[in-house]
Amino acid sequence: MFKTAGIAEIIRSNQKDESYMLHLRKLLTETTQSIFGTRQWITWRKEIDMLGDLGYFFLTTLSGNQTVGEEYVNILQVDQTRKAIPTSARRLLMCLVYAGMPYLLYRMLDLLEKKLKSQDFSEITPGRREFLLKSVPVIRQTILLSHRCHLAWFYLKGMFYHISKRIVGVHYVQYNMGRSGGDNSLNRSFRILGWLLLSQVFGNSLIQLYHVLGRLRRTDSCQETDKLAVSNEEQGYVPQQNKCSLCLETRRHSTAAPCGHLFCWQCIHEWCQNKAECPLCRDKFEPHRLIYLYNFDIF
Ligand SMILES: [Zn+2]
Ligand SMILES: [Zn+2]
Repeated sequence: MFKTAGIAEIIRSNQKDESYMLHLRKLLTETTQSIFGTRQWITWRKEIDMLGDLGYFFLTTLSGNQTVGEEYVNILQVDQTRKAIPTSARRLLMCLVYAGMPYLLYRMLDLLEKKLKSQDFSEITPGRREFLLKSVPVIRQTILLSHRCHLAWFYLKGMFYHISKRIVGVHYVQYNMGRSGGDNSLNRSFRILGWLLLSQVFGNSLIQLYHVLGRLRRTDSCQETDKLAVSNEEQGYVPQQNKCSLCLETRRHSTAAPCGHLFCWQCIHEWCQNKAECPLCRDKFEPHRLIYLYNFDIF
């Protein structure tokens, strides 16, 4: 009657859930923007997104119900015995890891970057500080790549689409199996996809490594400019041309909208998920027309 859920069903279920979670995030974003304004939304956007995700899981998994996606493809969460549904504590832990872990990682790296720039760690030598500052984007990139590796592993082996489910040990079984349940040819295709994704991750890692080594080599020549910039920021002064109009801080990873206005990559990218227009001049554009300016930032 019950059988281990197939890769296709797990993917379909996740796509459905993600679309509902995105909808919930959008509703929360619109509500926050209309009540507190865009600036407050920019400050708290990560927390708002996390609340949206937790809200979705609270109404589904934590209340002992299937998610919309699970119901759509007839799959059920079970523990490692595959005979019982996971305990409430396990489900709670899974939801916290799912929504909280990416948020905590983001905040910790952000805090570390800010502290390094404001020279809070007085015991660290300037050279080491420089090295740590350049390591933060590398850590971010590594987290992204390990996510992709995990996805490739899922395509190869099935079962754990999300790292949170792997950590907590939440499996899936399928009931009322449809036509695609356990389809071997489908699993073969996913295995090919898994190997392709793994080779892409490997290629990307090599390219990133090449860029990182190049940036480290260029450090010496840029040191004078950097010292000036850091001392400016230390005094709390950010020149207007270096300021992002969305977060009002020094622009990081400068990105140009087609109208020519500059923002942080993260700020404008998140803004565009909600409204595809320039926050300053209201010029409408497609998000893929944003241009990331390489070698532009002085930081
Ligand atoms: Zn910004
Ligand atoms: Zn503009």
